[in-house]
Amino acid sequence: AAMRHLPYFCRGEVVKGFGRGSKELGIPTANFSEQVVESFPSDISTGIYYGWACVGNGDVHKMVLSVGWNPFYKNIKKSVETHIIHTFKEDFYGEILSIVIIGYIRPEKNFDSLEALISAIQDDIEEAKRQLDLPEHLKLKEDNFFHLPEGKIVNNH
Ligand code: ADP
Ligand code: MG
Repeated sequence: AAMRHLPYFCRGEVVKGFGRGSKELGIPTANFSEQVVESFPSDISTGIYYGWACVGNGDVHKMVLSVGWNPFYKNIKKSVETHIIHTFKEDFYGEILSIVIIGYIRPEKNFDSLEALISAIQDDIEEAKRQLDLPEHLKLKEDNFFHLPEGKIVNNH
């Protein structure tokens, strides 16, 4: 269930999240709106993924993505949050985020401490960077999806 929808192309507005303090941990996550999440395949596995992301018509960067449970909906609906591996000068709430989800890293986990959580995310980021340097993954960075603002969203299913 984790892999069969991949690569998965998706585009939508960045909205305010749940104020979990991701930014305070040094790993801000750009949240997609409820409508975008609703359009996801319902059987996509929760967990951590890697892929490419671009804000507006800006540069394409590596990213890690979490598909988790949305606390606003008593954890019956999913949330999709993208951490772009790039330092931005400013926040980009309200902008259009385009992503392609390429591969799965691991399922969701509970951590005993904040340090353990941050260290796991840093490992995820290193894994994403390594994976995305592989030629078959690098080529998706150049996909027309990122270069044509009105580009059609084409998925496998
Ligand atoms: P929220 O709970 O509102 O999602 P976060 O602490 O997760 O707050 O911060 C997310 C916001 O930070 C994004 O919506 C975006 O505007 C901004 N941001 C700045 N740099 C990044 C980045 N590298 N990756 C993702 N979001 C970023
Ligand atoms: Mg967030």
